Amino acid sequence: MDRYGEFFRGDVLVRDGMIIGLTRGPARDVTASAELDAGEGLVLPGFVQAHVHVVQSLLRHRADQLELLEWLRLRTWPYEAALDGDDVQAAAELGIAELLSGGTTTALDFGTTHDHDRVFEVAQTMGIRFVSGKTHMDMGDGVPDAILEETDQSLADAESLGLRWHGRASGRLRYAVAPRFALSCTRQLLEGCAELARSNGWLLQTHAAENRDETAKVRTLTGLANIAYLDSVGLTGPDVVLAHGIHLEPGDAGLLARTGTAICHCPGANLKLASGIADVPALLQAGIRVALGADGPPCNNRLSILHEMSLAGTLHNLRHGPTAIDPWAVLGMATREGARALGLGDVTGTLEAGKAADLVVIDGRDWPLLPEADPASRIVYGAGTADVRHVVVDGRIVVRERKLEAGDPDTIRAHVGEAAEAVASRMKGALA
Ligand SMILES: [Zn+2]
Repeated sequence: MDRYGEFFRGDVLVRDGMIIGLTRGPARDVTASAELDAGEGLVLPGFVQAHVHVVQSLLRHRADQLELLEWLRLRTWPYEAALDGDDVQAAAELGIAELLSGGTTTALDFGTTHDHDRVFEVAQTMGIRFVSGKTHMDMGDGVPDAILEETDQSLADAESLGLRWHGRASGRLRYAVAPRFALSCTRQLLEGCAELARSNGWLLQTHAAENRDETAKVRTLTGLANIAYLDSVGLTGPDVVLAHGIHLEPGDAGLLARTGTAICHCPGANLKLASGIADVPALLQAGIRVALGADGPPCNNRLSILHEMSLAGTLHNLRHGPTAIDPWAVLGMATREGARALGLGDVTGTLEAGKAADLVVIDGRDWPLLPEADPASRIVYGAGTADVRHVVVDGRIVVRERKLEAGDPDTIRAHVGEAAEAVASRMKGALA
């Protein structure tokens, strides 16, 4: 996982939050003020998830067995409408604790329409590298009043959040403009989002071509296929991450490749919501940048990049045979390609001197990782979150010997319990 994609035994040297060198064999002539034992471990760049919704964490295990549009209308929107600021904080604590504990050091995240400062505050405290934005929605069937926005206000709220948070915590926090999807936003709002992001140099993210009913509705509403419509409002380009990309039309792959638009593949959520399977080998063949993400806790139901890697490494064999995707390519999607999609290719995603010290240590002594063999095979096909031993972001140890140090686990559990109960009672009939 170094610049040349090589692996070898050695030490990683870190100073002031940066990787300053990699050694082949043990480091000599170095006096370290602290050491993190990674003996028999696999040291990797911290994982990158290019699509998550930590704010949805309190709805987990309460929104099962639904397809996308019903899942949104019957559960997710009523849930987001019921959240208050304390609930948003508790949801963010749960989501970020889970991400860090599973080795995800960088995430591209979607908020809800309100209280998004609380999410950034948690990300700031817990130490994750976090690119995030409030979502936008100014139309849609069955959207509760509490999260249905007025177009100009929606854009103004995002602008003030972005100006407040982008670049904070030594650049660890960044803003990403996040219109929910074509069916939640007027054309005016989508165009406004693209303009807001570009005038500030912020990333853009939305959902696209996830579900057949969704793509049919987009066509009825706009006369265009989903990706073509997003392109017409400025939502394609090297600064855009589209989650899913399952139901593509002829010409879409060429458009995505030509514009440099990244797709975030979310196989776990796509399976659970019965959305379909994005043809990732074909996307890669077309020259499209592909990253990985778990999507929302209530549609997965976990935020484990190792679970997504296992799925991405095996699912496509059904259509393309056993050589569909090389495990090294899967590992690349979860690290280097994710970082590039987020515009952070110079900051994280590989182990190189000059990059941030974002590291994960997988315990190579754990049963599914034995015996020693090709490291990508061990990780992609063998590893789970239980095998994540240490996690470091920007040089700070956030997980040590499988224990979260980024926050107090008991306090987080208490916040989650209280907030989940409060939200459920506010949602009343909306939870079956
Ligand atoms: Zn999503």
